[in-house]
Amino acid sequence: ADTTPLARGLPVPQGISKSAFLAAIEELRSTLGADHVVLNDQTITNGWYMEHPNTHDIMSLFDTEEFIASAVVYPGSVTDVQSIVKWANKHLIPIFPISIGRNLGYGGSAPRVRGSVTVDLGRRMNRILDINVDDFTCLVEPGVTFYALYEEIQRRGLGDKVWIDTPDLGGGSVIGNTLERGVGYTPYGDHWMCHSGLEVVLPSVGDDGKVPVMRTGMGALGTGGENVWQCFPYGYGPHNDGIFSQSNFGIVTKMGMTLMPNPGGYESYAYTFPNESDYAPLIDIIRPLRIANILENVAQLRQGLQTLTVEGRPRTAYYNGSGPIPDAVVREHQRKTPTGECAWVYYGMAYGPPHVRAHKLAIIDAEFKRIPGCRKIDPASMPEDDYYWSRDHIASGTPDLEELRWVNWMPNGAHICFSPVSPTRGADAEKLYAMAKRWHTEQGLDLMMAFLVGMREMHLIIEIVFDVTDKEMKKRAEKCLRGMIDEAASLGYGEYRTHLALMDQVAGTYNWNDNALMKFNNQLKDAIDPNGILAPGRCGIWPARYRNRGWEL
Ligand code: ADP
Repeated sequence: ADTTPLARGLPVPQGISKSAFLAAIEELRSTLGADHVVLNDQTITNGWYMEHPNTHDIMSLFDTEEFIASAVVYPGSVTDVQSIVKWANKHLIPIFPISIGRNLGYGGSAPRVRGSVTVDLGRRMNRILDINVDDFTCLVEPGVTFYALYEEIQRRGLGDKVWIDTPDLGGGSVIGNTLERGVGYTPYGDHWMCHSGLEVVLPSVGDDGKVPVMRTGMGALGTGGENVWQCFPYGYGPHNDGIFSQSNFGIVTKMGMTLMPNPGGYESYAYTFPNESDYAPLIDIIRPLRIANILENVAQLRQGLQTLTVEGRPRTAYYNGSGPIPDAVVREHQRKTPTGECAWVYYGMAYGPPHVRAHKLAIIDAEFKRIPGCRKIDPASMPEDDYYWSRDHIASGTPDLEELRWVNWMPNGAHICFSPVSPTRGADAEKLYAMAKRWHTEQGLDLMMAFLVGMREMHLIIEIVFDVTDKEMKKRAEKCLRGMIDEAASLGYGEYRTHLALMDQVAGTYNWNDNALMKFNNQLKDAIDPNGILAPGRCGIWPARYRNRGWEL
């Protein structure tokens, strides 16, 4: 971790004087305890994934001090969270909740508005409140990571019974990732779909002077849901959970999650495909198999270069030229890898005892081999440290960190994602792939991508890996991202999630019928958070106090 003095000094939020801000901080210290309120007025420290800072984005596309917190507070209870909301409303100070803050590629722990006070929920509110092996559910606080949940299940000796679903990197918060509508790779990979019940602290103060806490679904029952909260997500009346995901309408303090029964066996498999053009017919083969659940998990179709990047070595170990790394160079190096030469690799997993798997695996094998040159990888040929086993861990619900390897591709490696959604159809994939390739070539960037097949849709995940100290390269990355967002929108595709820096632009592409959706979101925002204190600008939603005053990027 490198530490440097803050170049721009204490980032006091706009609209309040430094002395008034410092006085407000003292007041908050007396409420929460001095140890639990830390001013960000001295230095800036960049760690890596496991020792990430909670004040800013270590992978910033702009100046690091642009999206930065003025202070970090550590609530220890729901009551503390309510106190913080009350305090923020009194002083009109923007607050920004994070659970763990490892949302790398999408902004890390950084707030959207410079000088926001970050509410780091995870540090002290990190209890696993319930693991229920009869209903296969759990109830967690914001600080529970995928690793922590996994380890607690093993510690209690329940690993034989119950699995979790983990994203590519297991160090994030179950709540944080789910609220961002992140995905994992078991049949329970759609985290948002698998959650059941939220407890939310709302961002304004009621007429009675209290900050409301509400529960959704069955948790709204007078009992607080008790034994049924995690069994049925909908409850009665409008299903409000959706407005608390990818938004700035509330602070989630508890969430229920469904867990997967141990399927009684599993087997990962991978297939390679020789030609660049193979992905389109392959995706058309994948679609009916995925929808019919023959392909059982959120599987990845990764492009050839990714078999090199996951070796964790710098780009210069393969190529020293400028512009995107040529295909011939990729193939030459691939020949020396266990995966071998290919344009695409598909990683999947079959679940259940051997006889259950065999049926599905036979269908998959026959269908995939309709693509000429398709080759099944023999798992026995894969060395222990090969990335193949990382996918094996993740698809069987074991958290892992190997996905970080490709960040080493660049010195001072950072990454930012472009993640458009399309139907699982070859023709759509072709349009997005051609577009992405053109933009990357124009900007001299390596195209690093994978299609993640959800079900009827695919997330195309492109990772632009850049040198965080290279301003010129960051400009090119931004140009490429912004160009792709607009062009994808004109072709009829939109992102499922985006980085802080791009939220306004992406929100702007969801503008059907004279921005009806954003108008509705704005209406909600102003009703729920009239002072506009909670995460202003997140997901492109600006409260009235900020709207159309030059904050949009
Ligand atoms: P990760 O789980 O990847 O570490 P974060 O904690 O960074 O994720 O959360 C991702 C984003 O989701 C945050 O930037 C924040 O905007 C939002 N978020 C996270 N936790 C909460 C929460 N408990 N309540 C409301 N929003 C949250």
